Amino acid sequence: MSEQPILQLKKIEKSFGETAVLRNITLDVQEGELVTFIGPSGSGKTTLLRVVGGFHQQTGGTVLLGGQTIDVLPPEKRSTGMVFQNYALFPHMTVYENVEYGLKIQTVGKVERNQRIKEALQQVQLDGYENRKPSELSGGQQQRVAIARCLVLKPKVLLLDEPLSNLDANLRVVMRDEIRRLKEELNLTIVFVTHDQEEALSISDRILVLKDGIVQQLETPSIVYQRPANEFVAKFVGHAN
Ligand code: ADP
Repeated sequence: MSEQPILQLKKIEKSFGETAVLRNITLDVQEGELVTFIGPSGSGKTTLLRVVGGFHQQTGGTVLLGGQTIDVLPPEKRSTGMVFQNYALFPHMTVYENVEYGLKIQTVGKVERNQRIKEALQQVQLDGYENRKPSELSGGQQQRVAIARCLVLKPKVLLLDEPLSNLDANLRVVMRDEIRRLKEELNLTIVFVTHDQEEALSISDRILVLKDGIVQQLETPSIVYQRPANEFVAKFVGHAN
């Protein structure tokens, strides 16, 4: 592909104290692409996502968004929307207020806020739920609010950290399809973390397989599945059956 990638990770290293957790990770993500990080627990998936989102500072390498380095920017200035595993909604606020929060911080005016909140809630199919509190929503609906809260800020990249892990099996499949639909409709660029191989194979354009903070393979689902780069990938992906 000749287009400039929207997101570039160049030789990312991360250590906590003496412990190296990410080693020499290089990745280009194209606009509109969904790339998934998979690997066993402790392989560095969440740490890598957090480096992109600005919640961890890497110890080496650089992150570029739209061709510009974002290394020194705090999370809220990065144009990377992060959906956390537990959704991190404000329990005392309504759906509307949760989605409004980031816009208020950006001092977006009331009329525009209202318009953008409506649009974001429509995108996640939650119009009519404006006045509910998170506790009055199902897990899937809470997740939709968490996604709307990011979308309303028009991020360049959406970062999803095991977003389906708290949902029951049926809802996982529904929300998986929903994330694909949003990606296609809005041409979203998404980086997705999961430890579930089957989920990764079904949702991704490309998969980055991690083991001990080292990239084992970066390929399309069908290539990872049919031509695993090594025995580790073969075994890990093979668990899907
Ligand atoms: P995964 O998401 O693949 O389960 P993580 O990125 O959460 O893996 O963790 C990778 C490694 O980094 C683990 O060994 C974990 O213990 C370590 N780690 C993660 N966060 C911290 C931290 N804040 N301080 C020290 N070690 C950490």
